[in-house]
Amino acid sequence: MAKDGVMTIENLIEKASKYLSADDIAFIQRAYEFAKQAHKDQYRKSGEAYIIHPVQVAGILVELKMDPVTIASGFLHDVVEDTEVTLEDLEEEFSKEVAMLVDGVTKLGKIKYKSKEAQQAENHRKMFVAMAKDIRVILIKLADRLHNMRTLKHLPPEKQRIKANETLEIFAPLAHRLGISTIKWELEDTALRYLNPQQYYRIVQLMKQKRNERETNIEEVIEEVTKQLEDVNIKAELSGRPKHLYSIYRKMSEQNKQFNEIYDLLAVRVIVDSIKDCYAVLGIIHTCWKPMPGRFKDYIAMPKPNLYQSLHTTVIGPKGDPLEVQIRTKEMHEIAEYGIAAHWAYKEGKQIQTGKKSFEEKLTWFREILEWQTETHDAEEFIESLKIDLFSDMVYVFTPKGDVIELPSGSVPLDFAYRIHTEIGNQTIGAKVNGKMEPLDYELKNGDIVEVMTSKHSYGPSQDWLKITQTSQAKNKIRQFFKKQRREENISKGKELVDKEIRALGIEPKDVMTEENLKRVYERFNFVNAEDMYAAVGYQGITAALIATRLTDKIRQTRQKEQDLAQTIEEVNNDAKEKKAHKKDSGVKVEGVDNLLVRLSKCCSPVPGDEIVGYITKGRGVSVHREDCPNIQTEEAKQRHLHVEWEKHQTQKQYHVDLEISGYDRRGLLNEVLQAVNETKTNITHVNGRSDRNKMAVIQITILIHNTDHLRKIVERIKQIKDIYSVTRTVQ
Ligand code: MN
Repeated sequence: MAKDGVMTIENLIEKASKYLSADDIAFIQRAYEFAKQAHKDQYRKSGEAYIIHPVQVAGILVELKMDPVTIASGFLHDVVEDTEVTLEDLEEEFSKEVAMLVDGVTKLGKIKYKSKEAQQAENHRKMFVAMAKDIRVILIKLADRLHNMRTLKHLPPEKQRIKANETLEIFAPLAHRLGISTIKWELEDTALRYLNPQQYYRIVQLMKQKRNERETNIEEVIEEVTKQLEDVNIKAELSGRPKHLYSIYRKMSEQNKQFNEIYDLLAVRVIVDSIKDCYAVLGIIHTCWKPMPGRFKDYIAMPKPNLYQSLHTTVIGPKGDPLEVQIRTKEMHEIAEYGIAAHWAYKEGKQIQTGKKSFEEKLTWFREILEWQTETHDAEEFIESLKIDLFSDMVYVFTPKGDVIELPSGSVPLDFAYRIHTEIGNQTIGAKVNGKMEPLDYELKNGDIVEVMTSKHSYGPSQDWLKITQTSQAKNKIRQFFKKQRREENISKGKELVDKEIRALGIEPKDVMTEENLKRVYERFNFVNAEDMYAAVGYQGITAALIATRLTDKIRQTRQKEQDLAQTIEEVNNDAKEKKAHKKDSGVKVEGVDNLLVRLSKCCSPVPGDEIVGYITKGRGVSVHREDCPNIQTEEAKQRHLHVEWEKHQTQKQYHVDLEISGYDRRGLLNEVLQAVNETKTNITHVNGRSDRNKMAVIQITILIHNTDHLRKIVERIKQIKDIYSVTRTVQ
């Protein structure tokens, strides 16, 4: 490649004529004339006529042996951007294909790259390839960049640095991926010159100093190998392999090596006619000099992902220094230098096709790599190289900050939003693309700058979003949102249903919704918490009635007991009313007084056997109390005491006694008490029962008894009942 000299149009035509037909030459010449006319009053920063630039770009493409359409597009690559000429003009004047290629190059020119981390550089490279659509656009762009780098000195220093950096980060790696090492090396070397001029010129200087010594050594080696090859009749071209500045620089800085350690390595390249010869040459070299272990690489059997093929070996050379040898065929050499361009090099009778055909060709290319690639050690690089074509179904867009986001083609701003952050996705209310509001189903295009508008008050995704979005990431996040939202709905619906069922049981929900009770029930049904339980009711995984029944079982038991109790009490009382005997005779006689109105006091209900005392009331006769009745113990009351005694032989008479029985509140206790009393053939006239918070049951019964002996028996009998704490005779 003519690095220094400027290629004239005549040089270019002459070179192109070697592989293009007269018609093709006429076609590219017409493109040149058109470009020259379009740029006629324009000059470059260097002061030269502008047309020199497109001629150099087209010249580089000729050196890559590209097809006439690509070369013509090289001539025309700046006309749409810099002159009045439109794409329609180009299509009319030349072809749709030319217009498409020029359009691609123009668009690539608009991508602005801000140096960021490695991942961003990688995304930018992918974006380049994806935007290019046709890989020839990249080749034209690489040629364009190469010439711009060659003339970088005319730009101000700040711009030089930006361009050089961009070249190192984007263009050189792209050239490498495409296997175009000639362009890659020149781009890297030139970039280094502007990014680190001190080191660059130092290495140049060191290389000059060593040149003579090296050249002598190389000549010796070449002479020896040539002689050996002549003996076995193998035709070969031998040359000293040029070392590239940037690769020396990188080895020095990355591996922290001295210049001598790198540059002293002698390197020879042998180019032969056939693969068979490659291995023959390898054998001869290994017989002449001792191979260094672990340095032999067979890239013929296992090509590099970018199609590179060669045999590599290092031997201990004639001077005792390591000697690097690369052996390859002419064809392999072409691919080593020109990569994909060599693969697609224009050959007479084989027109490069566009559209489907060219895509099929690309696929063939990748299939070949796949077949060749049997080793996995370069897997990462291999995958990357595959991506170049496979990610034609990806779209690359910018965040407002200039980061590149990779999305499947067909993606919409919502996919972008969910890629940035789930919350951003959920709160999206609109999107600006390239500063203009666009609908949420706008299909993103390569290079779009996307700005998502969000609101904290957004209602979140709508069902439509599932249809609009392209990425599974976005779809999953949207589904998650709905699931979560539905869960909340299910919880509140479930709670409502459970409350309703509880009310149907005649119970206020709040009476059973204690934390303890809820926990007991959700654990009973193996839920982690009450919300899970309600949610399950909401989506009908379990019935509300079942939950309500469980939640209320305790309170219902208690109420049932109360009801039972009330019923028993009522029955007994009714019974007693019917049987009520109207015996007026108190069975007490007052000493010395007959027919005195005597009645038994209700407060202490004395019965025969009790010590009793009479009490003279005002106008209501004598009331009989137990001697120890607290109601008649005052001094004043004692004045009214009167001696009374029980009549003898009065077994038929019955007297009311109030008993208070307390015990542990359990089911059936009251019945047992009542049964015990019944067993003693004692009538009950009244019964009442209640229980308190401490599980204490208190039963009050009024019974009809004959005397204290009778009473004692009953009390003893009751006391024998399980869970009875105490039995007392009450005084009102
Ligand atoms: Mn240009």
